[in-house]
Amino acid sequence: MHQVPEEWREDDNVKPPEGRDALFKGNTWMSGNSRRDGGKVAEKQNVELMDGDRQSLMMELTRLIQNMVNETSWWENRGIDISILALAFLLLLPAFLLLGSSSTLAFVLGLVLMGVSHAVITVKGTHLASHGSLTDSPAWTNLWAVFFIEVCGSFTVKAAVSGHVKLHHAHTNVIGLGDSSTWKIPCLPRSVYLFIAPLGVPVITPLVALGLLRDQSVGRGLRTVLMMLLGFFCQYWLLIHVSGFQCPYRTIFCMLFCRGMFSVPFIHVNIFQHIGLPMFSPTRRPKQIYQMTHGVLNLPRNSLLDWTFGHSLISCHVEHHLFPFLSDNMCLKVKPIVSQFLKEKGLPYQEDSYFSRLQLFFHKYQELMVFAPPITELVGVQ
Ligand SMILES: [Zn+2]
Repeated sequence: MHQVPEEWREDDNVKPPEGRDALFKGNTWMSGNSRRDGGKVAEKQNVELMDGDRQSLMMELTRLIQNMVNETSWWENRGIDISILALAFLLLLPAFLLLGSSSTLAFVLGLVLMGVSHAVITVKGTHLASHGSLTDSPAWTNLWAVFFIEVCGSFTVKAAVSGHVKLHHAHTNVIGLGDSSTWKIPCLPRSVYLFIAPLGVPVITPLVALGLLRDQSVGRGLRTVLMMLLGFFCQYWLLIHVSGFQCPYRTIFCMLFCRGMFSVPFIHVNIFQHIGLPMFSPTRRPKQIYQMTHGVLNLPRNSLLDWTFGHSLISCHVEHHLFPFLSDNMCLKVKPIVSQFLKEKGLPYQEDSYFSRLQLFFHKYQELMVFAPPITELVGVQ
């Protein structure tokens, strides 16, 4: 739908199979059917018919969404999400001022405001920036990515884009590629993994980023370190000079507390929407529309999480995986079209509540988060 920087495009070595190879490689249903037909002509016709049907489903849906995007104003396409991000930055001023208050209630309000703003900027902001959904300009896309991911999010643009966009999105639920296994820590007991370990995210994130720098050029690595330090020291300086903090340890603890306020639901959301759903083999993967409708799940609308993490990560995750360059607001706008289309075509539109997924992960922790997931063969049932 718009241009993206060259480095964000698929690498040749991780490019998913295209065309018929991706559809029918190892298709046991087709092999059996053609054997029963006993003729190569019938097999070829079947292959072309199925290929056309499957391709046309995604093309048909894409046309519907493209038409809607073309008729949509800049405000709905980008403006609303940019305004939410701008509001999050504006809220930082009262947050810093309230954190300087001697009133306990005002101080707690300051903490909450700082935590919410940080979540909006570092989850919604970094996610939209990693997909290039904030602007059509490649130069601004790069700039916003560095600002949101490195300065605000304390991570590296290269690792975020290659891990999230190139691997997770391109190979959703494909074993060994986009199977969300980076979120698994099988050595941890379930209660520790689900409720305590996420609190370490504000410390673990920059440490992981520093470890990943060896895969980058010296120049880019240096830029990442400088940007991360800039974000860290800006918040530290403002807490000292605006909020009036005097003890360095108290200042750092306050920073980590606010940065970690939403890290428990952040980890939950990342695992709830993919792990436990069908997983695919790299050599027998279904076509995109089947891969995404079977391997992605939407959570119900939740005022707090929808507005802090963004609709594309909560109630419109299916729409986001089908059309990753749409902004959060556009994902919400196309949701009725996508859900109706998938239901009409007999495809799954998977939804489950946050609490239901939490119960599932808590009771099936070993199966879902410790053992290797089973592979689903969709090709036989499509
Ligand atoms: Zn995404």
